[in-house]
Amino acid sequence: MSNTAHLIAGRCTTVFEGTREQTQHGDVLVLVKPDQTVLVHDADGYQPVAWLTRPEMTTVTPDRIEARDGSQKLEVVVHETYAHAQYPTSDAGIPVGDCPACGGRLTRSSGAISCPDCESRYRLPTGATVLDENCDCGLPRMRVERGVSFVVCLDRECESLDERVKQAFDRKWDCPECGSALRVLRRGGLILGCEAYPDCETGFSFPAGIANEDCDCGLPRFETATGEHCLDRECREHETVSAQ
Ligand SMILES: [Zn+2]
Ligand SMILES: [Zn+2]
Ligand SMILES: [Zn+2]
Ligand SMILES: [Zn+2]
Repeated sequence: MSNTAHLIAGRCTTVFEGTREQTQHGDVLVLVKPDQTVLVHDADGYQPVAWLTRPEMTTVTPDRIEARDGSQKLEVVVHETYAHAQYPTSDAGIPVGDCPACGGRLTRSSGAISCPDCESRYRLPTGATVLDENCDCGLPRMRVERGVSFVVCLDRECESLDERVKQAFDRKWDCPECGSALRVLRRGGLILGCEAYPDCETGFSFPAGIANEDCDCGLPRFETATGEHCLDRECREHETVSAQ
């Protein structure tokens, strides 16, 4: 997907057909985003006077913009063009520090830290908090709760969260089905999986939280952003005890 947006300023007639029919005429700003979203702004307020969000198809020509999505259609006829240009756009995120690779400003958005000036991109683990403190490599560090609180570099190649979690929790708990040790493994996400695999297929995704006292079933309980629960989310041991 190209990350170029079109910006057109001009005297236009806008015709929307779909859930409602509407025609507008005036001096407007038309924005066509890389995801094909079309926004038509007039002189007033923050809201577009006409729009179509992520339509199936948008075509842009010097005197016409047309977007279609199912039975909806937005057509903007440009009678007189004041400006028509294309500009690069990116995700806009919260600034979190400087990019050691190029000196650009790292930003956080949609579960990752990325640099708009180079290709650097670091996926954030669930629940990660980016800290003000920097690693020796120049990247910010993050705090991630996986049983306990770990502080590691954003770059997994630099400081591996998985290794730290393994050091702390590999073989710490036993499989409730067969009694073998639970290993810290990466299967897509981080999991605690039975060592006897494939004879025993018991496995639990590693919760994004702090391990508290053990559950009555023998597994640890985790304090997470969504509440406290047993490593085995199906486990009902604790609830029968605490229900009053
Ligand atoms: Zn960069
Ligand atoms: Zn580092
Ligand atoms: Zn097992
Ligand atoms: Zn339990």
